[in-house]
Amino acid sequence: MRSSRVDALADAREIEQAQSAPALIGLIRKQLMRGFVWLRFTAELEQAFRSENDRAARVNRIALLSIAALVLLISPLFDTAYFGVPESAAFWSRLLLVGVLVPVTLAAVAWCLRRGESRATEFVITGQFAIVTVGLLANHMILNRYSADFPIEFVGVGFVAVVALGRVRSWVILPVGAALSVLTCVTVIGLVNSSPADYYHLAAAGVLALFATYLQYASEYVLRRSWLDRQLLQLVARHDGLTGLLNRHALESALATAHAHAVRECNDYSLAMIDIDQFGAYNNRYGHPAGDEALRRVAEVIEVYARRPLDVCGRYGGEEFVTFWIEGRPNEAEEHAEALRAAIEDAALVHETSDVAPVVTVSIGLCHIEQPQQHDSLSAVLSCADALLYEAKAAGRNCVKVGLFDRGGPVGEKMAEAAD
Ligand code: GH3
Ligand code: MG
Ligand code: MG
Repeated sequence: MRSSRVDALADAREIEQAQSAPALIGLIRKQLMRGFVWLRFTAELEQAFRSENDRAARVNRIALLSIAALVLLISPLFDTAYFGVPESAAFWSRLLLVGVLVPVTLAAVAWCLRRGESRATEFVITGQFAIVTVGLLANHMILNRYSADFPIEFVGVGFVAVVALGRVRSWVILPVGAALSVLTCVTVIGLVNSSPADYYHLAAAGVLALFATYLQYASEYVLRRSWLDRQLLQLVARHDGLTGLLNRHALESALATAHAHAVRECNDYSLAMIDIDQFGAYNNRYGHPAGDEALRRVAEVIEVYARRPLDVCGRYGGEEFVTFWIEGRPNEAEEHAEALRAAIEDAALVHETSDVAPVVTVSIGLCHIEQPQQHDSLSAVLSCADALLYEAKAAGRNCVKVGLFDRGGPVGEKMAEAAD
């Protein structure tokens, strides 16, 4: 079973992969500017918001339903002794509360425990709230027949509780809340022989319902606003502002996760260090803004070559990039790296002052590691790729140098040479 941390990482990757980081940042900024007074985001954001909301609401929803079940369950202990319920009415009232409403509420608890993160959960919560409210109104009618009192503001208390803890969208809960408020008025005013005390209770329930309505709108608005802010902050903190790829910090953490995963699964992988050839000369010839644009274009091509589910790519620094590829079959990464190198050449970004080619090119050091072990450190694999990149530069640039990660063997010596 996947841990929730792995789930969260997978979701973050899902949303990042469905939209590139700059596109997603643009979407969020646009949403913040347009506002969301009707409590709805554009489709892509709405979907992501709801998934996270359902995940985050699970504990609160279980608490809400458990408290409701407990209150319903213990109320018969006090009804005749303290609440003035006549013995003759107690049987029917208890049957309704304990025989019907408690099982419904426990069924909702069971749903939240088993399938709490499902999209349907907010409807389960709303359904439970509606059934309990109708049940309380029925209880009021039963007690009224026996000339006993029922504080109808419990209906309002239920509304406030579901708003405070249910984290159900306003579009779902408010129409149901409004319908139940009308039903409550009809019951008290039209269906039972109400006393002045009942009208006091009804007024209290009405005030609670008004508070609940405002609280629902305001809290969902704040929830949505802080979700957008958080997403934006995370995206900006994780991505390089120029290329939109993972920045150094996020890249290192993504590589560490990918490496640890490969070690655990005994997956061969390859790590490529990619460096633009003679980029200093490009800047000198075309200026830094043009250099920035070229970096963006190269990054776009690199990203296309790192889109499989477990791939990682990012900007390592300056005009250097790193990609991580899980190996499906032998030599796959080498073919992939060669295709990437050719694709950047084919992008045909004119570079008149390059000694290598008339266009922008890259050199790639590709380190392949078979069956990574616990003691194989990621930094050693990175150093291996760096040493191979050094070889590619020495071999005339615009080429791929491939090497096998050798635990303390020739690559180690090569690395020492490279360091000199
Ligand atoms: P080599 O083929 O050996 O890699 O030569 P090089 O010129 O690419 O390498 P060098 O390390 O000498 O120069 C890297 C250049 O990359 C220098 C720097 O101005 C440029 N650079 C780094 N980051 C950026 C950036 O964000 N924007 C622009 N425009 N240039 C950048
Ligand atoms: Mg460099
Ligand atoms: Mg360079």
